[in-house]
Amino acid sequence: MTAQLNPRGDVAVLIPAAGAGVRLGPGGPKALRLLAGEPLLVHAVRRVAAASSVGLIVIAAPPAEVDAVRELLAAIAPVTVVAGGAERQHSVAAALAVVPAEIDIVLVHDAARALTPATLVDEVAAAVRGGLPAVIPALPVVDTVKEVGPDEVVLGTVDRSALRGVQTPQGFRHAVLAAAHSAGLDSHTDDAGMVEKAGVLVTCVPGSELAMKITRPLDLIVAEALLRLV
Ligand code: C5P
Repeated sequence: MTAQLNPRGDVAVLIPAAGAGVRLGPGGPKALRLLAGEPLLVHAVRRVAAASSVGLIVIAAPPAEVDAVRELLAAIAPVTVVAGGAERQHSVAAALAVVPAEIDIVLVHDAARALTPATLVDEVAAAVRGGLPAVIPALPVVDTVKEVGPDEVVLGTVDRSALRGVQTPQGFRHAVLAAAHSAGLDSHTDDAGMVEKAGVLVTCVPGSELAMKITRPLDLIVAEALLRLV
């Protein structure tokens, strides 16, 4: 059965899903790899569609898979599918380009965070609605972190209490995200990095262990175990 998005939902969620997934090993685009028999993207979309704040979902698919992704998601939830780009940032830009101007809050998610609960989507959206320009879910870092030189020699130990591991969905005022993209700022690995460079205040809210990023083969095994619990 196709989930209907909340008719009063006014938040757009962009899901870049055009990555190759090289670190996951051979086997095609990462968003289409199977987790418990279903593509990661299907798991991700199902959870995003269940968030009551969400009124629009835009997927950036691998260019060769746009029709296949449209077909795949037709039975899951109403979504708009566009062709992604060579870098994650280009995929986000392509998805952002189809978001109507009247939408005020835009979240950027990752297909690879397939088990992210709908509650986290709503919490990030609520924090932006509450007045923050940019909001990111984050968890404390559990490992001790060392900074090393090119020769792997330790340069120093970083104060772990001040570090956060950052997840998605990351939430923004539409105008803030659009301005960062049109300024052509480099995003590195997340969208908040881009708006930080533009001098915008970025605030962390508590993340979720379920929002883990499925990157390496072991992550698929962990995610499959987590699926049995949630
Ligand atoms: O490569 P990484 O794991 O950081 O990718 C994070 C998310 O960005 C994934 O969902 C991936 O499909 C997406 N991505 C994309 N277009 C790219 C590269 C990555 O949509 N060119």
